Amino acid sequence: MSSHFPNLLKPLDLGFTQLKNRVLMGSMHTMLEEIPGGHKMAAKFYAERAKGQVGLIVTGGISPNEEGVVFTGSAVFNSEEQIVAHQLITDAVHNEGGKICMQILHTGRYAYHKECVAPSAIQAPININKPKELTDDDIERTISDFVRCAKFAQMAGYDGVEVMGSEGYLINQFLVCRTNKRTDKWGGAYSNRMQFPLRIVEGIRKELGDAFIIIYRLSMLDLVEEGSSWEEVVQLAKAIESAGANIINTGIGWHESRVPTIASNVPRGGFSWVTKKMMGEVSIPLVTTNRINTPELGDEIIAQGNADMVSMARPFLADPEFVLKAIEGRSEEINTCIACNQACLDHTFTLKRCSCLVNPRACHETELNYNPAKSIKKIAVIGAGPAGLAASSIAAERGHIVDLYERKEELGGQFNLAKKVPGKEDYSETVRYFEAMVKKFKVNVFLSTEISVDELLAMQYDEVIIATGVEPRKLKLEGIEHSKVMDYSELLSGKRNAGLRVAIIGAGGIGFDVAGYLTDTINKDNETESYMKEWGVDMTMKTRGFYIGPDPGKPKRTVHLLKRSSGKHGKALGKTTGWIHRSSLANKNVNMLSKVEYLKVDDKGLHFKQGENIQVLDVDNIIICAGQEMLDNYSVKLIENGVKVHVIGGAKDASELDAKRAINEAAYLAAAL
Ligand code: NAP
Ligand code: SF4
Repeated sequence: MSSHFPNLLKPLDLGFTQLKNRVLMGSMHTMLEEIPGGHKMAAKFYAERAKGQVGLIVTGGISPNEEGVVFTGSAVFNSEEQIVAHQLITDAVHNEGGKICMQILHTGRYAYHKECVAPSAIQAPININKPKELTDDDIERTISDFVRCAKFAQMAGYDGVEVMGSEGYLINQFLVCRTNKRTDKWGGAYSNRMQFPLRIVEGIRKELGDAFIIIYRLSMLDLVEEGSSWEEVVQLAKAIESAGANIINTGIGWHESRVPTIASNVPRGGFSWVTKKMMGEVSIPLVTTNRINTPELGDEIIAQGNADMVSMARPFLADPEFVLKAIEGRSEEINTCIACNQACLDHTFTLKRCSCLVNPRACHETELNYNPAKSIKKIAVIGAGPAGLAASSIAAERGHIVDLYERKEELGGQFNLAKKVPGKEDYSETVRYFEAMVKKFKVNVFLSTEISVDELLAMQYDEVIIATGVEPRKLKLEGIEHSKVMDYSELLSGKRNAGLRVAIIGAGGIGFDVAGYLTDTINKDNETESYMKEWGVDMTMKTRGFYIGPDPGKPKRTVHLLKRSSGKHGKALGKTTGWIHRSSLANKNVNMLSKVEYLKVDDKGLHFKQGENIQVLDVDNIIICAGQEMLDNYSVKLIENGVKVHVIGGAKDASELDAKRAINEAAYLAAAL
């Protein structure tokens, strides 16, 4: 056993089999199973994580029948012919000494297709399709489908299955009165409603014998009205143990709940108190989950007795070697998941292949590799933001000689501003990771150095990468030089402070971030409690579903968020996070103004026109968040002098700037140099 993280890395005995450590790679829908040739890609994806020493892997959800699929054409395991494809995955994982369970997921009324089914015909607020009510025969057949699916999983070589009983999917829908209005033996009293999951677990155990892992994902905190009570959750946990499960994993929140449960604003490890409450109620291992992204935190959670195991999902997109690096005491080299959702969940929910903002290789392991360079080149990289850092560290990893020039005194670029935004503190982890990488691969770093074109020419580089990023757009507006006006970088860098009444010009990603920064009410000394109060989680667990509605408290500032265009504010924000930003600002009474024409700034404040009305916002400060302009003073002159130049990230296209594209471009370029 490793001397590092002794609690997290301690083996776990399940009786018939042993796990190497307490780390479970949680289920993620990567979309790999849905694309042609995807099982091969999935095999490589999982094998890299198994090689990275994770204790137990759980696959993305696979439906036991056609009705239960997430969308038409998504993964289902309902025939023997499909076994071969799954064997690619299990063989690859076993060859690396790993263990893997397949998650069985029936989406019930969350299915995005017309054939969706549920205990009662009640439409989900997040689905356009109304489900058909299952008959008694349908229910018996669905239970058999779960058992058959587990049997096929065993035949395909999986070490076990995870029965997905949380997040508001079919099993959860049977459990609570919100979605189960049946009057037959599957509805009414709780002892009836819980028969559906119990029959599934009993059926799988009976059919597959004792040497097969059954994990049950238990919704411990529904976070919806008319959800389970804590007494019911405990009753179910005990019954599930008796039915034959080996491990209980924690589920937090339904997809339709209005509480963010995994986004970056959730405090790290912020839901482990829920699993802790269950500790001692059952004798099988309990897994805790949600926003756990470092081995330090995982170790502490286990040391404090909050759980027996820790589940991390997205952290394994960000770094397949998470556990290995922890074992070897190299945690500063872990590429940490920053919970942005931009390349993982936002992709999955738009039916695109999943990846990772900080690690573009995730789910692209068969096509993006950082192999040793065939010929060593001398490369200059200008700009040490995310794009420049990724390009220089990957190029150096491949053996190139890399000089990295940064005009500021620190590495990180825009991430040094992003990390100041409440809920984005983890962006500092990416900067820490790249600092470790440039050091490890011996990139020559020149800080506070604005290198000139002549100096670059004199150095005779084989190739030059321009990653100089962007600068805030300067507006042509009367009074723009007024002392009330500042741009977002002046505010977030701490150069200037804002008063108590603020207008923000521009309601894009940064306008929203700045509004969040100005209206933050979270008490950092008591972060988890403060967060739960802000979003309405009943930590006393006396209310059914544990949801009591948001109460963020009154922010100290009055904020107006303005934009010229029409339509809803924040429409272009991330698919899975936009609603969080919108709800948070609405809960804090941020005044959203659209279709405005800015007129001028003077001592009275910001003058603007909306329709025919001219108005003045009497504010102390006006903060400009009106997008970015490209910053590239190099490429034209270098190209004129015959230098091979590559422009990446914001320097290439400021309008589309985001760190996902910047790091992705950098990675593909550096892999090909
Ligand atoms: P952005 O999202 O493009 O927003 C710029 C805003 O400025 C727009 O709302 C635009 O709104 C306004 N604007 C543009 N030109 C203007 C002008 N001449 N005068 C007045 N207003 C003007 O850019 P950003 O906020 O700078 O963000 C940069 C990038 O980072 C974006 O790609 C963004 O998605 C990303 N980002 C994302 C997040 C996130 O939460 N996912 C957070 C931060 C940043 P109108 O035209 O309607 O006025
Ligand atoms: Fe984490 Fe963002 Fe990567 Fe998803 S895209 S795994 S949330 S860092």
